[in-house]
Amino acid sequence: MTIEKLQEVLTGEASFRLKQAIKLVFVDLISDWEDASVFPLVLREKLKQDLSLDIKADLFLSKEQKSGKAIIHLVDGLKVETTLMNHKDGRNTVCISSQIGCPLACKFCATGKMGFTRNLDYSEILIQIIFWARFLKNKNEKISNVVFMGMGEPLLNYDNVFKAIKFINDPDLFNISSRKIAISTIGLINEIKKMVNERIKVDLAISLHAPNDFLRRKIMPYSENYQLEKLLDTSDFYIKKTNRRVMLEYLLIKGVNDSQKEALELSRLLLGRKLYFVNLIKYNETGSFKPSDQKTINNFKNILLRNGINVIERYRFNQDVFGACGQLALKTT
Ligand code: SF4
Repeated sequence: MTIEKLQEVLTGEASFRLKQAIKLVFVDLISDWEDASVFPLVLREKLKQDLSLDIKADLFLSKEQKSGKAIIHLVDGLKVETTLMNHKDGRNTVCISSQIGCPLACKFCATGKMGFTRNLDYSEILIQIIFWARFLKNKNEKISNVVFMGMGEPLLNYDNVFKAIKFINDPDLFNISSRKIAISTIGLINEIKKMVNERIKVDLAISLHAPNDFLRRKIMPYSENYQLEKLLDTSDFYIKKTNRRVMLEYLLIKGVNDSQKEALELSRLLLGRKLYFVNLIKYNETGSFKPSDQKTINNFKNILLRNGINVIERYRFNQDVFGACGQLALKTT
């Protein structure tokens, strides 16, 4: 379901009908044209026939029933995964996929192991938002944040991602502030530079996962195209132009990147870079590696703190439904 398709189906109708239909779908979140009471019956019937609002999905809620993941069935039969995280403070963050599979094949990532099938169209990105917005509406809640941290590398699908962001940010549609939208990338330098010129300046998160190029290449083979120093220079530029802080995501993998040496190296890398913060994430098992134990995580974190680095430890959501970071691979049991 796209605006273009809506336009096509409403051809010949008064022009205000399109505006009404957009509001019904994106703001009122109707899931059946039957509920479009502002439309005459005959138009409702036509829309029902030509443009289904149904979203086919398998929903897996976490134990506490407030977070979960959904596997959405796309029109061509392919499937994509999206997750909802309900935070203790009540915020609802939706994690969105931008591709089916991922071509970048990071060694620790379940999506990377799937290989790459295709990019998602902007409307397939929006369907994930609509799905959770409808789910939350039933509980009188709303989406507060949107993060592009699901399946795929969002900056490899740049145009569709930014087209979707326009809808997500539009005050007449989802109305989510640009400060509450984040893109996570392994660090595509040219695309980060391009982001600086976007009207909507979103938050940038970089999947770092190693404090030097050698180790980074070992676990993230595609990163060989992006030297760390150059990548950080580019994100310095992003900070300068947008005045945003940049998040560095760091998965802690047992015996791979979690030693004191790596913590010190990371501290040195970030020395003087005040507008960065490190998000430490305990690795969620996907088969190849093991997560660091809590003592190692605490040591790593303390070294960063002692060196004046801003650091937080991410709470893990949706592990019980295989919907945690790095686990998205359409797995259900
Ligand atoms: S971590 Fe991100 S970039 Fe790497 S394979 Fe997984 S989805 Fe792709």
